[in-house]
Amino acid sequence: MAQVITSARVGDLFGTYWDSGYLVVEGDRIARAGPGPAPEVPGAQVLDAGGRLVTPGLVNAHAHLYSSLARGIPLQRFNPSSFREILEQLWWKLDRALDLDGVYHSGVVGALGHLRAGVTALFDHHASPTAIEGSLAQLKRALAEVGLRADLCYEVTDRGGSGERNAGIAENIRFAREEREEGRFAAHMGLHASFTLSDETLGRARAAAEELGLGYHVHLAEGKEDPVDALHKHGVRTAERLDRFGILGEGSLLVHGIQLSGAELDLLAARGGTVVHNPRSNMNNAVGVAPVPAMLGKGIRVALGTDGFGCDLLTEALTARLLAHHASGSPTTLPDPQLLGLLRENYRLAERAFGVPMGKMAPGFAADLVVWDYVPPTPLDAGTILSHLLFGAISEGVRPRTVLVGGVPRLRDGAVMGLEEQAALARAREAARALWGRV
Ligand SMILES: [Zn+2]
Repeated sequence: MAQVITSARVGDLFGTYWDSGYLVVEGDRIARAGPGPAPEVPGAQVLDAGGRLVTPGLVNAHAHLYSSLARGIPLQRFNPSSFREILEQLWWKLDRALDLDGVYHSGVVGALGHLRAGVTALFDHHASPTAIEGSLAQLKRALAEVGLRADLCYEVTDRGGSGERNAGIAENIRFAREEREEGRFAAHMGLHASFTLSDETLGRARAAAEELGLGYHVHLAEGKEDPVDALHKHGVRTAERLDRFGILGEGSLLVHGIQLSGAELDLLAARGGTVVHNPRSNMNNAVGVAPVPAMLGKGIRVALGTDGFGCDLLTEALTARLLAHHASGSPTTLPDPQLLGLLRENYRLAERAFGVPMGKMAPGFAADLVVWDYVPPTPLDAGTILSHLLFGAISEGVRPRTVLVGGVPRLRDGAVMGLEEQAALARAREAARALWGRV
């Protein structure tokens, strides 16, 4: 059955905006979109947006759903003095305590968070070293219940020995072979970071990735540990080392990219992979500032992710702006055209992963749509949608009222459609209590 959204402020991040417009959705795509009153579509279900802003769903280019049950966790002896100690004292304890039940519930909580932030597609990077086999299937089950599109991978690392390493590679292979679904679930080869990966492991991961045609999803030069380790053990810097294994090419997600030399930036530009910027996580972990304006100046693709620091991509985008201003000492760094470029790169990545045109209010594009609970208090036009979203979100807590993913309502008038939200959260609290008891 067709669906018609009427009386909407229809806009996207590619220059389309109608102050009063409509959308016709047929199947999983936008069939028609335009200004003015909606056409008559016999038998269609009609949603009156009441003058609210309607945009395409957002894409998160780097998530860690497994971190979702960490909220409020009591931490004993947490006193890190470096990025590695943050991993050792929190994340590497938490992920090792996850069982498959915990993975599933973390997926539900994380997926709900993304849905309620207007994110309809995400690229997740997963770790649960004592429950590796089948972990991506648990995440997929949770994401399917909430109704999001997702690209999944398992974080291959040597930190748990060769058995866990082999199981991690096998889980990536299993998911990519058996669980990809055109348009809904896609796959990458997940790698932790250069400083926890041997040459042997990178070689094995590469062989599997190339056989399956997978790009890589890997943390790159997040803390100083990465270049120090690469230089000490391999005689080259981090990106140079990963390049020996063909990891920097188009389709790869190279997460953070903070501790990079000028020569490494040139290498990234030449290879075509996408750097994913996660400013809130970077600030929280005190790992430094990714040189995003310099990257863009060199023609490097840059996207935006949350790195498990919540799911709110709009606040992440605003933080990218604030951090760029603060770090550069200039209130004009990372202006709208550049920040829009990051968000558009997220859509390009999603198009590539899911095989569906995404991000525009135009016929043939995915009907991943967000009716924001936002009627602007000031004039809005094609050039100011981003500003309205960022400052509306940060100052007024603007959140989605209704969300469609592939034409299916997943949030309607504030209510989650795919599962009983309160019951799911109650079960997640029990899973979190059990998880914390094992950390
Ligand atoms: Zn990450």
